[in-house]
Amino acid sequence: MSDALIQDLKAALGERAVLTDAGDLAPVLEEQRGLYRGASPALVKPASTADVAETVKICAAHDVAIVPQGGNTGLVGGGVPDGGVVLSLERMNTVLSVDPVNLTMEVEAGAILATIQDAAQEAGAYFPLSLGAEGSCRIGGNLSTNAGGVHVVRYGNARDLVLGLEVVLADGRVWDGMRALRKDNTGYDLKSLFLGAEGTLGIITRAVLRLYPKLQSKTVALAGCGSFDQALELFHMARTRAGDVLMACEAMSGFALSLAEKHVEGVASPLEGRHEVYVLLEFGSTDPNADLPALMEAALTDAYEATVIEDAVIAHSGAQSEAIWKIRETIPEAQKKEGGSIKHDVAVPVSQTPEFIARANALVADLIPGVRPVAFGHLGDGNIHFNLTQPEGTDKKEFLDHWHAMNEKIHDLAASMGGSFSAEHGIGQLKTGEMARLKSGTELDLMRAVKTALDPENRLNPGKVIPPKDAS
Ligand SMILES: Cc1cc2nc3c(=O)[nH]c(=O)nc-3n(C[C@H](O)[C@H](O)[C@H](O)COP(=O)(O)OP(=O)(O)OC[C@H]3O[C@@H](n4cnc5c(N)ncnc54)[C@H](O)[C@@H]3O)c2cc1C
Repeated sequence: MSDALIQDLKAALGERAVLTDAGDLAPVLEEQRGLYRGASPALVKPASTADVAETVKICAAHDVAIVPQGGNTGLVGGGVPDGGVVLSLERMNTVLSVDPVNLTMEVEAGAILATIQDAAQEAGAYFPLSLGAEGSCRIGGNLSTNAGGVHVVRYGNARDLVLGLEVVLADGRVWDGMRALRKDNTGYDLKSLFLGAEGTLGIITRAVLRLYPKLQSKTVALAGCGSFDQALELFHMARTRAGDVLMACEAMSGFALSLAEKHVEGVASPLEGRHEVYVLLEFGSTDPNADLPALMEAALTDAYEATVIEDAVIAHSGAQSEAIWKIRETIPEAQKKEGGSIKHDVAVPVSQTPEFIARANALVADLIPGVRPVAFGHLGDGNIHFNLTQPEGTDKKEFLDHWHAMNEKIHDLAASMGGSFSAEHGIGQLKTGEMARLKSGTELDLMRAVKTALDPENRLNPGKVIPPKDAS
């Protein structure tokens, strides 16, 4: 069966578009954290939407599943195949056009996020989606995971940055929804179905992205606070004062920052003293005359006088801004070097973030004495990566055996506060069990109904997102 499938794919797409060597397949069978390793008969690299449609039809004829892949930077095993053909969008990587007046950009799904940001910049516009993996993740993956990143507080998630889509459906038909409209109330919003669907409902092949006016200036600051309550108050004060000029508000515990300093070369706090919590604020403006350092200074002075912050520093050069961002961005790498870590990607209403962190700290300390919480993340969105580092001097494997139990406790806590057990990384295969446990039967029924309507044979990325019926 496999040989006939490969022959048909090669005949339709050409020899070089269908790879079967173990060496070629190895990088796409494993996700980058090494949590999952899959199997696949072939890696297919189509060059056009027509090729994608042809691939889908051929796989259907051979009754083989298809697993779309972008940059394979996902953190929940969503792109790891379980016997299906891996369909990489990497050859479909072109920025097709930019309309600086309509503020839109047409792209192929395999375009790298950083390339899209640069193309917007060159056209005098701005594409705000920004995340640590932007040099390797691809826009089709970003849209399929509804990626978040650091600018959600001002511009929303990936879902909010899309006006139109082209999608290859499970039966090989192509849905052309490439509309560049800001107003279009002509029935159901079909594109929303595919955004955040992690490849289970269709394969995104092109998109019309929403751009924003180009930023003329940016200012970054790092503040030290005595608690997450104060950090939240700083966010509130800064946003009240700066409004939409506030582009990012990231927080990290003092322990998270100290790990980055310990393990990553060149990382050092620019503040003299030590603090319980650090907050990174980024302001950005389209107004060339805006005095952002003065605005930042005023916001921080207010906060200092109100004893909301203990100290702060404003970056006065691009290099200083980058150094501050580097502290935040290298926390996961530092945590890895410190030993075993159990990860969470939860969201609660922004105003409840400090309470969530305090309760989660107490909960885990009870369950694993000596455990070291590494709380950091997108404070302005209520999205905290409440990670845990193993207690000093303990066995890594023994600690990681607590992964599942810890996840359940932390997810239950988030749920009890009206929160989410997956704020921005999605479900993939890592969290299907939590879907069964924490989503209502009604919500799962609705999702299954959508899946059955769009992919009745369950060929598109099976086993991802939706738990099996008997699991809920
Ligand atoms: C260092 C680092 C930092 C990160 N920071 C963030 C962050 O701040 N915020 C955040 O949200 N995520 C973050 N991530 C996670 C990851 O980068 C995002 O989920 C990203 O959007 C995935 O894009 P990708 O191209 O790598 O997708 P992949 O990993 O290749 O795929 C992800 C999912 O989308 C599906 N898919 C891919 N392409 C298509 C397509 N064309 N059509 C249909 N389905 C498709 C796949 O089947 C899979 O289920 C980070 C990851 C790393 C490694």
